[in-house]
Amino acid sequence: MSLRQRIGQGIDFHRLESGRELWLGGVKIPSDKGCVAHSDGDVLIHAICDALLGAAALRDIGFHFPDTSDEYKNIDSKILLRRTAGLIRDKGFHIINIDSTLCLEKPKIAPFIQVMCHTLATTAGIPYESVSVKATTTEKMGFTGRGEGVVAMAVCLISENIER
Ligand SMILES: [Zn+2]
Repeated sequence: MSLRQRIGQGIDFHRLESGRELWLGGVKIPSDKGCVAHSDGDVLIHAICDALLGAAALRDIGFHFPDTSDEYKNIDSKILLRRTAGLIRDKGFHIINIDSTLCLEKPKIAPFIQVMCHTLATTAGIPYESVSVKATTTEKMGFTGRGEGVVAMAVCLISENIER
């Protein structure tokens, strides 16, 4: 018997502004700049949600959690990830793995990678080993290099549940 497996891809961008909190992967990162957004601006969680929704052909994060709704104003993006993982489960799939990359000039993300992976795994209800977060700069080039914004990319694999 072969199980249906599906891949998904997600990407998100946010502007960075002084005096805002920086939330990445469900973790508050000490920084003089944070993401401008309707929600808490967790660009990494948003990219992961889009990857998961894409894998299940369930549209995108803006469709399920519109930024025109007061319900999602300043919302903790972990709530969005938890709900997204629920949508995936409701469709009869489970998450095999998530791989992601953050692209920003500063601050350095390496010290927070493990706690991000732990937070993302716990929130999505999957093992720690199933989540990967990587970080890179753009060598001071472009809007990320100038510290004007941050980009996150994610891919995931989901698999049909055996009992279906
Ligand atoms: Zn976003």
